[in-house]
Amino acid sequence: MQQGKLFVLSGPSGVGKGTILARLFVDFHDIEYSVSATTRQARAGEVQGENYYFLSEEEFFQLVENDQLIEWANVHNNYYGTPKEYVDKTLKKGQDIILEIDIQGAKQVRENYPDAVFIFLLPPSLQELEQRLEQRGSEDKRNKKIRLRNAREEMHEKQKYDYVIINDRIEETVDQLRSIIIAESCRIDKEDDN
Ligand code: 5GP
Repeated sequence: MQQGKLFVLSGPSGVGKGTILARLFVDFHDIEYSVSATTRQARAGEVQGENYYFLSEEEFFQLVENDQLIEWANVHNNYYGTPKEYVDKTLKKGQDIILEIDIQGAKQVRENYPDAVFIFLLPPSLQELEQRLEQRGSEDKRNKKIRLRNAREEMHEKQKYDYVIINDRIEETVDQLRSIIIAESCRIDKEDDN
């Protein structure tokens, strides 16, 4: 059976990755979502095991030590990582799966999963990003500053990705993301041909 495809979505904090994925999953069910582990505090409304596996640092580093994460990184002063078992099991079943992770994590995935497809979500501008972070209201002043500073650095990384989408209008962005996933799942793997 053909393996599923691994998709990686990255982009600066506040660009709308969560919104876009939530909208995609409303009527597109051909891809699974990988729930990350994190040491960050849950925000109001976030659900354990659905948005993230919220862990203590001790629990998180137990996963690291046991080699149970595909990748992990310190992002904006918290730890985040992708549990390995679910991703590998899904790919083995021939199902596609998408990870929403930062650029450090994407770099590790690039090394270990060379066939993965990398998609970068950009804001229309940095000013727009600042406004979106402001509107979301989930970060305190210091945290917002860290996230904006990191955004400038992260945006330089876009050249290492296979696709870039500018998240201006939600519906258009979701269409583009869906199109990329569909096109990639139709791609012929030439090396498998012999
Ligand atoms: P937030 O705290 O806003 O949910 O996420 C902050 C950042 O952590 C985002 O850039 C998000 O893509 C990244 N992130 C979420 N899960 C993971 C993960 O499993 N691994 C890595 N490396 N980054 C993650």
